[in-house]
Amino acid sequence: MDRIYLDHASAMPIDTRVFEFAKPYLIDSGNPSSLYEFGQDAKVAIEDSRRKIVDLINAENEKTIIFTGSATESNNIAIRGTAYRNIKEGKEVLSSAIDHISVINPMKDLQKNGWIFNTIPVDSNGIIDLSQLEKLLTKNTVVTSIMYANNEIGTIEPIKEISEIVHDKGKYLHVDATAAAGRIPIDVQKDGIDLLTLSSNDLYGPRGAGALYVKPGLKIQSIMPGGGQERGLRSGTENIFVIVGMGEAARITKNEMDTESNRLLKIRDKLISEIIKIDETYLTGHPKKRLPHHASFRFSYIEGESILLNMDMYGIQIATGSACSSKTLEPSHVLLAIGLKHEEAHGSMVMTLGHSNNMNQVQKIVKAVGETVSRLRKLSPLIK
Ligand code: PMP
Repeated sequence: MDRIYLDHASAMPIDTRVFEFAKPYLIDSGNPSSLYEFGQDAKVAIEDSRRKIVDLINAENEKTIIFTGSATESNNIAIRGTAYRNIKEGKEVLSSAIDHISVINPMKDLQKNGWIFNTIPVDSNGIIDLSQLEKLLTKNTVVTSIMYANNEIGTIEPIKEISEIVHDKGKYLHVDATAAAGRIPIDVQKDGIDLLTLSSNDLYGPRGAGALYVKPGLKIQSIMPGGGQERGLRSGTENIFVIVGMGEAARITKNEMDTESNRLLKIRDKLISEIIKIDETYLTGHPKKRLPHHASFRFSYIEGESILLNMDMYGIQIATGSACSSKTLEPSHVLLAIGLKHEEAHGSMVMTLGHSNNMNQVQKIVKAVGETVSRLRKLSPLIK
């Protein structure tokens, strides 16, 4: 059975062009800290990759980019490294109620260690409540973290407006751009961003690499001391293959973003218009301000895990709730934050499109969803 993969937010295949470009470094590369030529060649490759990340987000210069091992690691360094380094400026941190768990958990950890941690509510479409943001910010708020776009409901946040409010009252704005980068343009200078997280795999790069943008002059410290690689912020011998791959993935994604996002947007809109025709089916997230490759829904009376398994029988892979926390049976904190009741939040389905998808697949997907929903509803004890 042909596979129709609709879960790109969980894992993307590596672009074969990226693999071919980075392959020599997987097989053999020196240590960039070694002074002989073989080591310095690896250093040049890393710096070349750094320039490509700079281009993707219009950063000021190469020194602003730190390579890490994942988006989770970038989020941790950004939040904990900035909070600890600027402890004298205040001990308050803020995030949106729908940020990723790799932002919320480091903040909870700070809370255990004496920081005040608050979350900013969102409206029913997932847009940050700007008046609440203004209310919760104080002069002691050192880090405010708001995601560029949400991975579960696709909503894009008004980052520039958020940045103005944060800088008016608080200190630094960290933005998790894992879901948004490569899909919509990001400009850290125009958007007024102090720290920004990127993930390699979300750009069709190899897994095991992330990047953190740190605005020039921002004070930040290491959370994992060691040999001092990556400006002392991410010690450990560099993984050249994934770093080089991430840079090349960023370059290709940037070049192709307009065309690819427009292509996926048409498929997304067709999926949405067809799927919401099913009885008691609702779009989750913002109808317009949403990622071009993202379609997410909730179905009354049925449950996401069963939807996922039923769709898999058609050879179609989708996600339910947060891909990263679907091991737990807890309803997604994102769906609860947009105001859904527990039982409503359980019936969610997330589709994230990518290179392998095309318009010809839509009919099969829509048919599979329709049959799945009606089969599960026949079995549902929730329907009277
Ligand atoms: N932030 C967002 C918005 C995510 O969707 C994810 C998961 N893809 C992460 C952070 C964490 O990424 P990783 O598990 O690769 O560290």
